[in-house]
Amino acid sequence: MEPLKFIMNTNVLAKRILIKISGEFFLSNNNEKFNSLSLQKLCNDIKNVLNNGINISLVIGGGNIIRGRDFNNNELIKRETADSIGMLSTVINGIIIRDVLKHNNIDTEIVSLLDLPFNIKKLNPFTIDKLVEQSKLIIFVGGLGLPYFSTDTISVVGASLSHCDAILKATKTDGVYDKDPNIHTDAVHLDNITYDYAMQNNLQVMDDAAFSLAKQLKLPIYIFSLFEDNCFINALNKSIKISIVN
Ligand code: UDP
Repeated sequence: MEPLKFIMNTNVLAKRILIKISGEFFLSNNNEKFNSLSLQKLCNDIKNVLNNGINISLVIGGGNIIRGRDFNNNELIKRETADSIGMLSTVINGIIIRDVLKHNNIDTEIVSLLDLPFNIKKLNPFTIDKLVEQSKLIIFVGGLGLPYFSTDTISVVGASLSHCDAILKATKTDGVYDKDPNIHTDAVHLDNITYDYAMQNNLQVMDDAAFSLAKQLKLPIYIFSLFEDNCFINALNKSIKISIVN
């Protein structure tokens, strides 16, 4: 299944992808939480996607601020509380990105399953359909509004609700390897693979809940490094993809 290459080759417009990036990408070397260069790079790469006639749904994690698992060994703060503040971190990132995109003349709408101020719309399928019709860039914040999940899961749910053809998940490495290339020097870069292969080999492309939902919904997942220039368009053109068939 190669819908996006097909779309791009034939210039059929009004297709949509969901981009999932970790909040960690906004951290600078000196632990600045919102590195301006990273924010602007994201914006430039987003513009390139929009200029190709492809609409965008966006999920940004909270890794530059707080992840629930940062508190795993904390005796005073419960897992559920830690996850709640993790979710709020994604809200902060969403609000910041909205400003950065606006500064670059890209109009967005933020949606969430949580009830939030700051001009954030309540997420439901009807709102999403309307925003898709308007070709808006939709930012999903606050995850599923429930603890025990990561933003991978809202990425799959959001991709399906906003009728995306694929999920683009940025990582720190250029695709998927048979084992962690940061640890194993003999790690082999894999070409297109199936969901079953990724699960059987525990490749940890996404957390398990998200990954099995992506399989069920037959949503292809492109894996690539965010550090490349024009990474999203490059990912659609050449990066490895996980789908039902090779
Ligand atoms: N989170 C949650 N439920 C959700 C989504 C997120 O509890 O549906 C919390 C969880 O603690 C997670 C944090 O929000 O660690 C930030 O999300 P994530 O870890 O996915 O951020 P990333 O690593 O992608 O930056």
